Amino acid sequence: MERDYDVLIVGAGAAGLYAALQFSEDVRVLLISKRELTLSNSSLAQGGVAAVLDKDNDNFKLHIADTLIAGKYKNNLDAIKVLVEEGPEDVLNLKKMGVAFDLDEKGHLQMTLEAGHSRHRIVHHKDSTGKAIVETLIEQVKTHSNVELCDNTMLYRLENNGRGFLCGLLMPDGSSRVVGAHYCILASGGIGRVYQYTTNSAIATGDGITLAYKLGAEIKYLSRIQFHPTAFAAENDRERFLISEAVRGEGAVLLNCDGQRFATKYDERGELAPRDVVSNAIMLESKEKGNEKFYLDITHKDPEFVKNRFPMIYEKCLEENIDITKQWIPVFPCQHYLMGGINVDLFARTSIDRLYAAGECSHTGVHGANRLASNSLLEALVFSRRAANDIMDRLQRENNAPFESFESSDDLSGNVMPKGYRTEIRKIMQDCHFVIPKPEAVPGGLKRIREIQHEIENGGYEINRDFVEARSLATVAAIVLSEVENGVE
Ligand SMILES: Cc1cc2nc3c(=O)[nH]c(=O)nc-3n(C[C@H](O)[C@H](O)[C@H](O)COP(=O)(O)OP(=O)(O)OC[C@H]3O[C@@H](n4cnc5c(N)ncnc54)[C@H](O)[C@@H]3O)c2cc1C
Repeated sequence: MERDYDVLIVGAGAAGLYAALQFSEDVRVLLISKRELTLSNSSLAQGGVAAVLDKDNDNFKLHIADTLIAGKYKNNLDAIKVLVEEGPEDVLNLKKMGVAFDLDEKGHLQMTLEAGHSRHRIVHHKDSTGKAIVETLIEQVKTHSNVELCDNTMLYRLENNGRGFLCGLLMPDGSSRVVGAHYCILASGGIGRVYQYTTNSAIATGDGITLAYKLGAEIKYLSRIQFHPTAFAAENDRERFLISEAVRGEGAVLLNCDGQRFATKYDERGELAPRDVVSNAIMLESKEKGNEKFYLDITHKDPEFVKNRFPMIYEKCLEENIDITKQWIPVFPCQHYLMGGINVDLFARTSIDRLYAAGECSHTGVHGANRLASNSLLEALVFSRRAANDIMDRLQRENNAPFESFESSDDLSGNVMPKGYRTEIRKIMQDCHFVIPKPEAVPGGLKRIREIQHEIENGGYEINRDFVEARSLATVAAIVLSEVENGVE
């Protein structure tokens, strides 16, 4: 590892990897991922990427309209236009790089329908699109000799020194290393792990958002959290396996505990209404029935089609003793996606000079109050490319003098942090701000979260991964609940 870099990219999901590929060979880039390179929300993406690629049957206006409807018109229209109009090129670029999107018999990209989309516009690789994208991007990044790719390397401190950032890194052996970077792109993902039950990967603890917040960056709409209506209802597993929207897109129906369809009772679009509407319908039905048992039924479809179209879901459910070609799949809503984040402009610039954010940790305004399915990978691609291009422009215009001397490591030693903070934070969040929020629980929950945050920040604890993630969870939970208390919607 060098002493300083032109650019530090924090995160090896779709946003971080795609950003890294945009830099020319003379730009020195450090790309870090706090765990193994493939552990990310991007790797978990099943359904696919939304893009207007079939111009005979689809157009930008329709994709924009669908995004606005799902987002309850709280979206930033300029950001949506950038997303929808530039996104198709990025998807084709992925194909060119080697992502094996499914093709039809004529060799054209196969497009599927997902909830909230008025046209078939989701390109996919079976039901493991994210894995296919991440693996291809990693291979591509490895061929770029200007990018140093480090796994198991965690950012725990980000300090602005006027001409860039001093970045404290926890190295794979637990030691500290401080490097300088003239620009930083935070592509550190979402906050799902602040909930008891989430579809998110273990890395989703809001570290980037917390470090940006500590620097004084503007954070927006962190309380806009999407709950996915159909996660596999495992009894004890924190990370819940997603039963993708595409399963409903292909005709699966939602049943209550009595085996009756009910979704159209709450919205005429039924099972294919946007996620928040379907999640709400399940919670209301659950209240009416006094029962939390819900199911997806796709048994009426040809078993071979189901196995071929959803091989991963089929296998995962089989591991839980459910054969989806013959049995109903038990489902229930859980935390899935963060619409808000570090506020950025159309070039992914945060309110702090030289600090950029892209992907799920950012708030571009594209999603409004609710994300349209399969728009997030697209957002990660489009805005991370824009961030990188903006930095490239600046690098050409600015003369970045080398950093003055700085300590090359921090003292990480301290007391052992007591166990239990994370569990308590997760329980409070689940109680206060799940699908149908409980405003009466928020003041008490927020008070306790702030106490925990204070204890973590001031306990003199050893800086290790557990500490950094607990600090992040407490920080993002406090921001979410204070937004709710202040009536931010
Ligand atoms: C189960 C599931 C299914 C989904 N399906 C779809 C879909 O079909 N279509 C779609 O568009 N979207 C989907 N999404 C959402 C989408 O996958 C994510 O929003 C998107 O991939 C986020 O990409 P990202 O690059 O911003 O973050 P991530 O892919 O989550 O990557 C974050 C990276 O940041 C790193 N990191 C975090 N903190 C630190 C730190 N402190 N130091 C160093 N590194 C750090 C992590 O190690 C990781 O490499 C799905 C999400 C889930 C969970």
